[in-house]
Amino acid sequence: MLDALGLTGAALTPGAQRSWWLREALARDPGQHCPPLARDIKADVVIIGGGFTGLWTAYFLTERNPNLGIAILEQDICGGGPSGRNGGFASGWWDELHGLVTLYGSEAAVRACRAITASIAGISEFCERNGIDTWYRRRGYMYAITATAHEKLCEEMVELAREVGAGDELRELTTAEVKERCDSPAFHGGAFMRDGASIQPARLARGLRRVVLDRGVTIHEGTAVERLDGTTAITPNGSVRASHAVLAVNAWGIGWPQLNRRLVAWSSYIVLTSPAPDRLREIGWTGGELISDFRTSLRYFRTTPDGRIAFGGGGGRARRTVDAMFTSDARAVTETAEGFRLMFPTFADVPIEDAWGGPIDVSPTHLPTFGRVGPTNVYYAAGYTGNGVAPTRVAGEVLADLITGADTDAVRLPMVNARPRAFPPEPFRSWGAAVVRRAMIAKETAEEHGREPGFVVSQLARTPRRMGYLLGPD
Ligand SMILES: Cc1cc2nc3c(=O)[nH]c(=O)nc-3n(C[C@H](O)[C@H](O)[C@H](O)COP(=O)(O)OP(=O)(O)OC[C@H]3O[C@@H](n4cnc5c(N)ncnc54)[C@H](O)[C@@H]3O)c2cc1C
Repeated sequence: MLDALGLTGAALTPGAQRSWWLREALARDPGQHCPPLARDIKADVVIIGGGFTGLWTAYFLTERNPNLGIAILEQDICGGGPSGRNGGFASGWWDELHGLVTLYGSEAAVRACRAITASIAGISEFCERNGIDTWYRRRGYMYAITATAHEKLCEEMVELAREVGAGDELRELTTAEVKERCDSPAFHGGAFMRDGASIQPARLARGLRRVVLDRGVTIHEGTAVERLDGTTAITPNGSVRASHAVLAVNAWGIGWPQLNRRLVAWSSYIVLTSPAPDRLREIGWTGGELISDFRTSLRYFRTTPDGRIAFGGGGGRARRTVDAMFTSDARAVTETAEGFRLMFPTFADVPIEDAWGGPIDVSPTHLPTFGRVGPTNVYYAAGYTGNGVAPTRVAGEVLADLITGADTDAVRLPMVNARPRAFPPEPFRSWGAAVVRRAMIAKETAEEHGREPGFVVSQLARTPRRMGYLLGPD
């Protein structure tokens, strides 16, 4: 029985099961058992977190030095966090140029974008070499305008790419060109970024896990690290004494003193339809493009090879700890489903059969940083702000190079050891983030419906920019 939004099955119980991606990947290959840590061990490098960041770091460390002893400690299973739950957008950074140029200047900004481009290709090469089928399709990324307020944003984004000499990477599309790729009544013009591939993210996470295990990396799943004592990772039933430690904990970084002033955690949710390839053909969305709108509270959507739409967005609540709100928030699922129904009215009778959510590690600049915590041997990558599929591979390479002391182009990327302006301390950080996030969503929803957002909502939504952060509307 379908409810008013067509939610059915697992979509009605978010958080009660793993993401559809991860269930699909595990059913195909559960992988070898990696038991929890139950004694004290030693390693050269201990990595906390078994998502893309931790796994790519381990992978590149084995590339640099196959003799290193590497241990990954994961509180859940590898890929159990956002790496196995995300939208599967491996997308370029040409749409991030404004922030990159503001922070680092044009030349370094373009270098950073090229590194992400190389990462998108590198994911494909890695998967081919290691026999991992992630449904990889590099068909580009279309931005669709859904509110008049976004027309200027679109123009500026394309213009900036032209100014830095990357006009080929990002170009404007007319309404007709947008509708030719995907005919939604909500779309009015847009832009196309050629850097964009869709993947089944959990297959990549689990594939990476297999490859690093084959290379001799030790993985302990079901092992939560309580703290670092220097570079020794302390867990309830054992420790890993290492000479280097890597914090690859994504939004859980809000609980780590080394990272907490760099991050705010927001939620994001995805709904997944039943297969409907005929409906996709009717609206002409058969090219496999990634698509999103221009909202700060982004809505992002892609298709799967069997003709489903995975549609993300909505939600967006902020919290002080990563709790059940990030996985079991029925209101966020409803808001996401409403967004989907608004954009795809011809799918009205296509059920939404799954839904899941996860935390996003929002940074003050909307961009991640990778590096070393002060003069210690603790390393980190954090602040992906919901765009980590391609950047995590760059992070893994950077961290491996920093740890092994390699002098490479990767360690000279501008986001390495960059020091963005810190967020305010708690309780102001999470309280402020929660209020501002709801204001941004209210403002953008009003604009989308052709209404003028209220004065208070508009002012609140603009607060982060006024405080010097590169987040939210101007
Ligand atoms: C719903 C959703 C959709 C998204 N869509 C996209 C997208 O389409 N494209 C894109 O580029 N990005 C997207 N993202 C963001 C992307 O998923 C992340 O940026 C990326 O997965 C980060 O990888 P990671 O390894 O740093 O983090 P994670 O995958 O979160 O891995 C961190 C791991 O650390 C573990 N951990 C935390 N604390 C501890 C501890 N104390 N001890 C042991 N283990 C610990 C966690 O369990 C987790 O598995 C999305 C995120 C969400 C939530």
